[in-house]
Amino acid sequence: AAPLLAVSELRVRFGATTVVDGVGYEVDGGQTLAVLGESGSGKSVTARAIMGLVRPPRGAVTAGSARLRGVDLLTLAEEERRRLRGTTIAMVFQDALSALNPVLSVGYQIAELFRAHQGLSRKEAARRAVEVLDLVRIPSAARRARDYPHQFSGGMRQRVGIGLAIALNPQVIIADEPTTALDVTVQAQIIRLLGELQREHGTALVLITHDMGVVADIADRVAVMYAGRVVEQGAAAEVYARPAHPYTEALLGAIPRPELRGRRLAVIPGAPPDPGRPEPGCRFRPRCGYAGDACGQQPPAREIGPGRLTACHEWERVTTP
Ligand code: SF4
Ligand code: MG
Repeated sequence: AAPLLAVSELRVRFGATTVVDGVGYEVDGGQTLAVLGESGSGKSVTARAIMGLVRPPRGAVTAGSARLRGVDLLTLAEEERRRLRGTTIAMVFQDALSALNPVLSVGYQIAELFRAHQGLSRKEAARRAVEVLDLVRIPSAARRARDYPHQFSGGMRQRVGIGLAIALNPQVIIADEPTTALDVTVQAQIIRLLGELQREHGTALVLITHDMGVVADIADRVAVMYAGRVVEQGAAAEVYARPAHPYTEALLGAIPRPELRGRRLAVIPGAPPDPGRPEPGCRFRPRCGYAGDACGQQPPAREIGPGRLTACHEWERVTTP
């Protein structure tokens, strides 16, 4: 069967610069796909493009598709897209403040979703909003529904943000580094909560993260991005046990134990290429310990196992112990 969400050959340009260059990934209902990579690798831009949030004049999606149950989100009219946001596909942002209105109570904001999308009465919508706050484990939800965003701690506000995203029971949730602003203990709680909700509701979760601990904990699949491309993709356990791309191997290199939470990805010597001036050949070459003559050519993504892709000429050497 076709995956619930399938992104294919996505290209995004900001001005003359191509920041997402042919990205593809897939996720099924009830599954979590972790999207890994350094800042600037195009993880967030890909997510925003899928959500229909990359728009001229700032940026443009120039190619590719993002099919949700076969419907290409990228070709929908803006009005239709707006209808789908929340009901079918929703996003959790790095800081919930960007998704919340500071002058309205959080209960009101969640209730508004039920009023706008399901036509519920004011009273019924308010009741459902409290249920949502309960679901995301806000203590004393009925009372807290009347509070404003600034009255919540960072962690509680992020729960509210998750509540906003899941209120209408979307099929896909994209969470863009939803715990970056939080301390390690709260991070773990939020990730666990997202994972639980995702399993209970059969939602597909695309989780953009820097945190390898998250991958070990809740991801079914992993897509590793570098310089605007997916360089490796596959089942999380396999990628973790036997990376097939030097970049993935390097990212995992400094993680001594997968059970360690809150670990950042390894810092790899060198810098990603300037997206404004792509050099020919593999983009990881200047930082790669495996580079050989073939690497002057862009490596194609090749399937090296079921659902397992790598874009590296030397992948066999990388997987050889
Ligand atoms: Fe390194 Fe070559 Fe593989 Fe690129 S294609 S990651 S330069 S070995
Ligand atoms: Mg980002």
